[in-house]
Amino acid sequence: RTRNAHQPEFIQSVEEVAETLIPYISQHPIFKDQSILERMVEPERMISFRVAWVDDKGVVQVNRGYRVQMNSALGPYKGGLRFHPSVNASILKFLAFEQVFKNSLTTLPMGGGKGGSDFDPKGKSDGEVMRFCYAFMTELERHIGPNTDVPAGDVGVGAREIGYLFGMYKKIRNEFTGVLTGKGLSWGGSLIRPEATGYGTVYFVQNMLAVKDMELLGKKVVISGAGNVAQYAVEKVLDLGGIVLTLSDSQGFIYDKDGIDREKLAYVMKLKNVERGRISDYVTKYPSAEYFADARPWSIPCDIALPCATQNELDGHDAKLLIENGCMCVAEGANMPSTPDAIHQFLAAKILYAPGKASNAGGVAISGLEMSQNSLRYSWTREKVDNRLKVIMKEIHNSCIEYGGCETGYCDYVKGANIAGFVKVADAMLAQGVV
Ligand code: NDP
Repeated sequence: RTRNAHQPEFIQSVEEVAETLIPYISQHPIFKDQSILERMVEPERMISFRVAWVDDKGVVQVNRGYRVQMNSALGPYKGGLRFHPSVNASILKFLAFEQVFKNSLTTLPMGGGKGGSDFDPKGKSDGEVMRFCYAFMTELERHIGPNTDVPAGDVGVGAREIGYLFGMYKKIRNEFTGVLTGKGLSWGGSLIRPEATGYGTVYFVQNMLAVKDMELLGKKVVISGAGNVAQYAVEKVLDLGGIVLTLSDSQGFIYDKDGIDREKLAYVMKLKNVERGRISDYVTKYPSAEYFADARPWSIPCDIALPCATQNELDGHDAKLLIENGCMCVAEGANMPSTPDAIHQFLAAKILYAPGKASNAGGVAISGLEMSQNSLRYSWTREKVDNRLKVIMKEIHNSCIEYGGCETGYCDYVKGANIAGFVKVADAMLAQGVV
């Protein structure tokens, strides 16, 4: 705590994991004797650097760039880059810590990392985003590589940014390698990567419901966010016959009682990905929907809630409302969207609750498959990758049950994800000695 003072998000993510891991570790003294958890909470390396770039007015702007190389016991560091004004060491360390467990759960050979900058892409021209990405990569390039550290996208870093980052890496290093994932299809990207986190979250929900002999057909689903994860979560819920009632962004949410259908989803994708507009525009296009400014969608009665926007976007009060209104399943598409109070309420009410490190692992899993395809210099079909995604999500679900237990019909996915993710990394660390 003293060493990580002023890092509340990081402390929150470690405490959440420690709550279930400490009892497990006390039954397995080798992990305690070798200080495995103490080592896991300290990044192997953390880089912070100046990013200076010139805006459209010719003014020099300065941002701070980071890369947290958290744990490489299982493979090269792997995890996204986030460009958002809120980015700081605490947020990136929490994301990197979660990433270690998540990557372990996929069973693919990936360590954990995370990075980014306090740069805000909102309102910037294409040229400004490109110049920022170039400046960011001129420093980051010396710390990454296809066998060292393979960054990807996250909030504020989509296909456009990955393109600019990859372009500069290739120019400096004079090599075409799979150093980033989330690349365009014609230059090394994988089919299904854009869809993978949203689809994977919904596949995970399918597995959770199956334990209770239920399915998504006809279920009312409340989703937050309107970005990459939220959009493809909507698409997969629709594929499986569910009804999506809400979407949100950082300024408010929309409630469409008639359901967000495919045509409306196509509109949201254009609005958010091409026009970079606000979700409030939805009600201008579809006046039967309602817009709630400065609010989150958890007050809308639903069967299933999928928080897909950002950390700590669902607090204890929201959790209480969801439960009171009959919500029976919460699966996190975002990283750590539920506060500790919200998690305790879900666990106490014994509803189905999946933490992001399990339910949103589909994105990094397909990034892992993108790395494999790059090494093979080969591209797998959409069907093959989607099938692998379904299998991986099922296996993660089953690992959670194996380690978390599912007695008397109640499955503890929090305990399961934390222990299953931990054991593999811990065993590898033990085998590699004190390094
Ligand atoms: P995007 O940038 O595509 O979308 C983020 C969405 O969340 C936007 O709608 C954004 O609204 C909203 N949002 C951001 N900050 C806030 C806030 N403070 N309050 C309310 N809403 C907010 O990001 P992604 O969809 O890629 O990521 C969403 C979450 O999923 C993040 O937690 C990310 O770490 C996690 N994740 C993403 C993966 C991926 O493959 N993309 C993989 C695994 C996890 P606005 O437009 O107003 O900013």
